[in-house]
Amino acid sequence: MSSIKENIDNINKQIFDTAISCGRKPEDIQLIAVSKKKNSDTILEGIKAGACHLGENYIQEAIDKINLIGKDKACWHFIGHLQSNKAKFAVQYFEYIHTVDTVKLAKEINKQAEKINKVQKILLQVNIAQEETKSGANTKEAIDLVKQLCSLTNLSLQGLMCMPPYFSDPEQARIYFKQLFQIKEKIIANQFDNVSMKHLSMGMSNDFKVAIQEGATMVRVGTAIFGSRN
Ligand SMILES: *Cc1c(COP(=O)(O)O)cnc(C)c1O
Repeated sequence: MSSIKENIDNINKQIFDTAISCGRKPEDIQLIAVSKKKNSDTILEGIKAGACHLGENYIQEAIDKINLIGKDKACWHFIGHLQSNKAKFAVQYFEYIHTVDTVKLAKEINKQAEKINKVQKILLQVNIAQEETKSGANTKEAIDLVKQLCSLTNLSLQGLMCMPPYFSDPEQARIYFKQLFQIKEKIIANQFDNVSMKHLSMGMSNDFKVAIQEGATMVRVGTAIFGSRN
């Protein structure tokens, strides 16, 4: 079995090669090591091996681990479903929240960020394949949401996030990555104030290379770094 360090090196090399082969700058693509269900020692091993961006899905689990590891040891990304009543903690602990999908949640994050004088970086989650089981806004809702977010001064909208269905053949995910890119272009064309669309958070262990070819700036990789969960 390969070590966490070997896995990270290997993925960074694949990110580099994929970027070059499609005419993109490798430094424009950020690897987020997804550490849900992995303990703090495993995460520290990842950090030592060069993972500086970490992704977590569950607030309480994340808080416990971040308190052990140290908030300043990495840049923390919240990538799980977020309930409004947990927004306060997400704002305290995370530099980015990738999963904003309703006005209600956005307003609560804004309110909590204001309390601690923070401008919270967020991404909007789009339910790109319109799956019943997944959260996220549809295309129309996403654009409406952006309109309503512009005026919330303690939020900094940075881009879009999606999680297409799992396919064993990653080529099948390509159409969804293309769609997220197109929604981003639509939002840019509207020229909203206070809105940056610099990030597309898309691509996981199985399909991150296809996502990079379609414009991903953040890839969220768990299994291929830390091994399978449970
Ligand atoms: C778990 C998870 C990932 C990582 O998935 P892997 O297939 O293990 O790479 C990425 N994004 C989200 C939102 C996740 O929940």
